Amino acid sequence: MATRFCTQCGQQLPENGRFCTNCGTPVPEEPQQAYSQPEPEPQPAPQPEYVQPEVKRQPTMPKPNNYLALSILATIFCCLPFGIPAIVFSAKVDNFWNAGNFQAAEDASRKARNWMLVSVIVGGVAIIAYVALVMFFGGVAALGAGALEGLY
Ligand SMILES: [Zn+2]
Repeated sequence: MATRFCTQCGQQLPENGRFCTNCGTPVPEEPQQAYSQPEPEPQPAPQPEYVQPEVKRQPTMPKPNNYLALSILATIFCCLPFGIPAIVFSAKVDNFWNAGNFQAAEDASRKARNWMLVSVIVGGVAIIAYVALVMFFGGVAALGAGALEGLY
């Protein structure tokens, strides 16, 4: 006979006792219950792919970043043509989000970030190229001046 324990307080129960000697809780009839034959793990019923209907004003995810500030900075400091779409998509993020179209908001957020990155990268390359050009021609000019000085 298996040892049984009170389900309430854990007190070891007498073999044929009907109540816990410690706290008086009635002992369940089936002796199986105490020395728990582990029930087979209940298989989680296969959840049907339940698509949450698009409920307005109840976003299931945090509002995506609209990158608006970064887009504006990128536009000002880098290059206008790529910063403009970034700002446009940034504004769309909020619009879509407020309209309850969360999927579109996230999509716009991704596009805003991409354009912002393009703007930063292209702008950065342009600045580096500009600096390199200035240094190159500056160097040529200096060399030229030096060469001329050598002539006279
Ligand atoms: Zn007990």
